Amino acid sequence: MRLKDKTALITGAGRGIGAATALLFAEEGARVGILDLRPEGMDKVAATAQQKGLAIKAFRGDVTQKDQVARVLEEFIAAFGRIDILVNNAGIVIPRPFFEKTAEDWEKTLAVNVIGIFLCAQAAARYMLPQKSGKIVNISSIRGIDHCGREGVMDYSASKTAVIGLTKTMAKELAPYVNVNTVAPGHTKTEMTAPLPEEVKRNMIEGAYLKRMAEPEDIAKAILFMASNDADFITGQVLLVDGGFSLKRT
Ligand code: NAP
Repeated sequence: MRLKDKTALITGAGRGIGAATALLFAEEGARVGILDLRPEGMDKVAATAQQKGLAIKAFRGDVTQKDQVARVLEEFIAAFGRIDILVNNAGIVIPRPFFEKTAEDWEKTLAVNVIGIFLCAQAAARYMLPQKSGKIVNISSIRGIDHCGREGVMDYSASKTAVIGLTKTMAKELAPYVNVNTVAPGHTKTEMTAPLPEEVKRNMIEGAYLKRMAEPEDIAKAILFMASNDADFITGQVLLVDGGFSLKRT
């Protein structure tokens, strides 16, 4: 029960890594709210929680819309009284080769993956700072780390590198009360990676020293660590969870 009596809001949690994180947090004793664009996925997550004797509350909203984010935070506080943990997990990728990539692809990707994080963090910090405590975990990607960008997703890679920069800045601005950290997942089995060609997936498995893709639960465990009291003296850092993919072959 590492999150006993904590309250947590997780964005983009209607499926994938966010859904796994919401269920793990609830199992660890947190009172959990999930935010997503559509209700269908969130209903499934809430029903799965209910089957396990847990409760997860759904909040519909778009992380790119400041008024919707503010409304969700108000509803969250009305339901739970305070916000201890924010996981900025919502993210999108629009794969397209360099010469087909458009400014609109960039704008959409940066709006969700970067500005969405900022808007949710700003709204949550308005409650966390007066509480004098809080944990914010931002989800980057192996594709935002050093030499690990991938062809066709330059806007995604740039957005995920930006997450690391904004995490470090927020860690400074919200200290000493709010810890802000990044978890950077490696290749993970979700709907985001499902459409990739089999050959690409094989390379992802071969390239990882641990010889598999991550399950969403592998990433959820790292997010749990960063959100828990075990990470009380960690801020502004990146935890890369990639099965050794980023290790250089020598
Ligand atoms: P996913 O399965 O595609 O789920 C993402 C969720 O975010 C979806 O439910 C999506 O809703 C929601 N979402 C998208 N835009 C949103 C918005 N504007 N407001 C609120 N919710 C929104 O993705 P995932 O694989 O679990 O990835 C979760 C995070 O990990 C992302 O930040 C991703 O970039 C990162 N990541 C993933 C991998 C991987 O291999 N899967 C690797 C590294 C990093 P809709 O279904 O309605 O679009």
